[in-house]
Amino acid sequence: MINKNYANLKESYLFTEIGRRVKAYTQANPDKKVIKMGIGDVTKPLCKAVTDAMNNAVIEMSTKEGFHGYGPEQGYDFLRNAVADYYKNFGVSLKSDEIFISDGAKSDLGNILDLFDKDCNVLVQDPVYPVYVDTNIMDGRKIYYADAVEKNGYLPMPSETCDADIIYICSPNNPCGAAYTRDMLEEWVSYANSRGAVILFDSAYEAFIEDAQVPHSIYEISGAETCAIEFCSLSKTAGFTGTRCGYTIVPEALVRDGFELRKLWLRRQTTKFNGVSYVVQRGAEAVFSAEGQKQIKEQIRYYKNNAAIIASTFDVLGISYTGGVNSPYIWLDCKCDSWEFFDKLLNEIQVVGTPGAGFGKNGEHHFRLTSFSTLENTTEAMERFKKLKL
Ligand code: PLP
Repeated sequence: MINKNYANLKESYLFTEIGRRVKAYTQANPDKKVIKMGIGDVTKPLCKAVTDAMNNAVIEMSTKEGFHGYGPEQGYDFLRNAVADYYKNFGVSLKSDEIFISDGAKSDLGNILDLFDKDCNVLVQDPVYPVYVDTNIMDGRKIYYADAVEKNGYLPMPSETCDADIIYICSPNNPCGAAYTRDMLEEWVSYANSRGAVILFDSAYEAFIEDAQVPHSIYEISGAETCAIEFCSLSKTAGFTGTRCGYTIVPEALVRDGFELRKLWLRRQTTKFNGVSYVVQRGAEAVFSAEGQKQIKEQIRYYKNNAAIIASTFDVLGISYTGGVNSPYIWLDCKCDSWEFFDKLLNEIQVVGTPGAGFGKNGEHHFRLTSFSTLENTTEAMERFKKLKL
């Protein structure tokens, strides 16, 4: 009667355990200021362009003429068109029918699995955003792991020995902060097309990309439209972690076993999802306006400046790390058990990060810091790092 695959899930202890240790420490040391650089939530509020648009939408909703009830499951045309226009910046041409507005990337990354057989093989990278793993364990799929380690720059490439039907790629990557170049993604796309595999491309951090060699979208690669689904989110791009909005792109040309995946996804969404609220979609539309882009880019610059402060401190201290350039995450080599390092930072300098072990076996001996804190706290945390005996 019960889906017993749930028994195969590891207890989700990572952030609970971090919370427990921080709480115990602050209770025992109430005079100490703890700086949190662990959970990937943002600290900057929604920008004015977004809140103005949402305020206007709320007022509209209070009028007979402007009230909106159930909306289209796939999202309002105004937002899908805004997303399609945004992709033109990357030279990508999308039909608005290929764009599905979501309440964030996490739900769609899990829900998309409705389209695939339970006996599909799955390839994820290790370390990995845990959602890719847990959602497949819930369905009982076999999971292969590709090592993302220092030797390959934390960017594994296709291997002929792995027989994967579904391939997850997160670029820029959470937790490593590494990002695939165009050439590397070309290899993945050609590999997926040659095997009839489907790439689930998570571009949640595309807005942090600086390097011209790093694509913002998998559809910048020719041939991706026949093998890839893309998931994006406004959570980190525009501070929508609590507001909830993202989008998923399923190209018309993506066909497997005679089925057009876009049609299957539309059928799935119209059956199981009732859309994102009108007010939130108006806020999301404003993210893509000229003023919205200016304001969110300012916020991203602020976080990237935090990342640069962390990186330059680690350069001086001789700590090896990856990330920070095209990503809000810094992934450092802590050269010891990652939970031991967590305790050391908490006890000695009161800085909280995320132990790499929580992201997979290759996360051991690594540690993730985020740049989503305030400038003041990031600066203070780095001053404290300088006093740490490593
Ligand atoms: N994908 C990655 C790689 C993430 O790190 C996150 C959030 O941390 C998400 C997706 C989920 O984003 P959302 O807030 O849109 O659900």
